[in-house]
Amino acid sequence: MTATPDALHRLLGDLVAIDSVNPSLVPGAAGELAIARRLAEELRSLGLDVHVTEVAPGRPNVVGVLQGRAPGRSLMFCGHTDTVGVAGMARPFEPDVRNGRLYGRGSQDMKGGVAAMVGAARRLVEAGGLEAGQLIVAAVVDEEHASLGAEALVRTWRADAAVITEPTGLDVAVAHKGFQWVAVETRGRAAHGSRPLEGRDAILRMGRVLSALETLDSELHAGRSHPLLGTASLHASLIHGGQELSSYPDRTWLEFERRTLPGESSSVAVDEIDRIVLQLRDADPEFEAERKAMLSRDAYEIDASSSLPLELTHAAQAAGCPANTAGMTFWTDAAILGAAGTPAAIFGPGGAGLHSTEEYVILDDVNKCCAALTALALTATKPR
Ligand SMILES: [Zn+2]
Repeated sequence: MTATPDALHRLLGDLVAIDSVNPSLVPGAAGELAIARRLAEELRSLGLDVHVTEVAPGRPNVVGVLQGRAPGRSLMFCGHTDTVGVAGMARPFEPDVRNGRLYGRGSQDMKGGVAAMVGAARRLVEAGGLEAGQLIVAAVVDEEHASLGAEALVRTWRADAAVITEPTGLDVAVAHKGFQWVAVETRGRAAHGSRPLEGRDAILRMGRVLSALETLDSELHAGRSHPLLGTASLHASLIHGGQELSSYPDRTWLEFERRTLPGESSSVAVDEIDRIVLQLRDADPEFEAERKAMLSRDAYEIDASSSLPLELTHAAQAAGCPANTAGMTFWTDAAILGAAGTPAAIFGPGGAGLHSTEEYVILDDVNKCCAALTALALTATKPR
């Protein structure tokens, strides 16, 4: 086999060297075109059947298919090609190897995982291909913003099982939290600061909302705890209001985030704020507020005793990974695949510095991840 760690690390270095900052996060950023071309070329060179599909202008998904020689099950590996921005980083696109780590933007989130899944396809091809079933290697755009890539992927592609190669420190993640963003506006009445009978203070009114949200957050912390994810929570993210010191503010705008557990309704945050507003209005008929639902993504969970987590855990342990059953606090595309009928687990290399100015992936973890994915592909594509 020529798929030595060298080839794997070279591909990872190439991927990190390509600027693929998400243009929806950072206006004018490079986007996923160049990295998609590099991946398409890599997958074609391995003899996979490659589909490049533009999801948004200049932002293509790349899907490579390795067909087995006999009927069997289909397995998908899926990773995102976009990264967050690079503000504050000295050399984000110069992969730097030190102490067994590769530094650079996207190294951990998640070019390490993408290199591992493409590396696994290489190993399978070089070992003579797949006996049965089908391996689908999917590199999708825009996970860091609105997951346009995964949404487009599931419209065309489906598999009996999928692994999202987001960084888990080589644990097998079977659950992650969801999130709901909600905006609330309180209304007051603008007036000169010296005229309390005319003015209605929108900021103080928002204070009542904030205080109720704080109480709710305490209730969430004291409430149901998921064995892998802990409790739900919320925090006030953004607030603005008021014009100048000498006036009553007529409106205040708050945006908060509610992190959800599997099983919570897609509208739980909106329902909660509606209840709070109703209570505040009951207490003070002059209280005026409106809310607006913003982006929301459901939490995700797969039964840890179902075949995918079991097969993945087995393959990962054989490759020397800790492979503990885990939950991730951050949201992933697994929720989109799962909702579309492709059961997914999350498994990828360790590192640190996700979304921060010093990001790295552990190179030996990339090797182990690649070995585990290769082993999984051999078992999870066999007919049952
Ligand atoms: Zn990611």
